[in-house]
Amino acid sequence: MRRGFVLILSAPSGAGKSTLARQLLVSSSGINLSVSTTTRAPRAGEQEGIDYYFCTQEKFRQLVVQGAFLEWAAVFGHSYGTSRIVVEEALARGEDVLLDIDWQGARQVRAGLRSGDVVSVFISPPSRSKLEERLRGRGKDSEEVIAGRMAKADDLTRAHVELETILQAERLRRLRLEEDAKEILAGFDL
Ligand code: 5GP
Repeated sequence: MRRGFVLILSAPSGAGKSTLARQLLVSSSGINLSVSTTTRAPRAGEQEGIDYYFCTQEKFRQLVVQGAFLEWAAVFGHSYGTSRIVVEEALARGEDVLLDIDWQGARQVRAGLRSGDVVSVFISPPSRSKLEERLRGRGKDSEEVIAGRMAKADDLTRAHVELETILQAERLRRLRLEEDAKEILAGFDL
């Protein structure tokens, strides 16, 4: 059995990161989202333990002191953190973990875990200028229509397929590395 890895998605806002994360969780098995702890108030429809673990500043501070977070950061005036034990146990069980965290957290995770345990994917937004040029070139669309087309699902669909491909490739690479390691160890005739 191979060890799991952490998949971190980073993106500038508006690139569709959360949508992509949700799509990947639906289409792929063996990968789960790490549910973060936050001090911000729940939004309409958000559920405790599913979207976030919601807690007070005081409780959050205690968790920080206890070393409960693999990473934590202040984002838009609220604190957010990823549970260390949840991630480490999942990796040890051979499960992959998706982290939907900001760039400060991503940097801490890359620094805090073994490099082989982390796969970072940067999602680049569609090139606005190229798209605008192409659409304006047709010469018949109003500004609203252009904006509407640019927000269309085509780019997201492609990004989703690419993300799934990265996930599969990383899984296969780790299996191969493990096979190689076994062969090398067998050569030592232990
Ligand atoms: P929201 O409050 O809209 O759910 O999330 C705001 C931002 O916080 C998003 O960029 C999200 O990726 C980030 N975020 C959510 N959970 C965590 C976490 O555990 N750690 C860090 N560093 N960022 C997080």
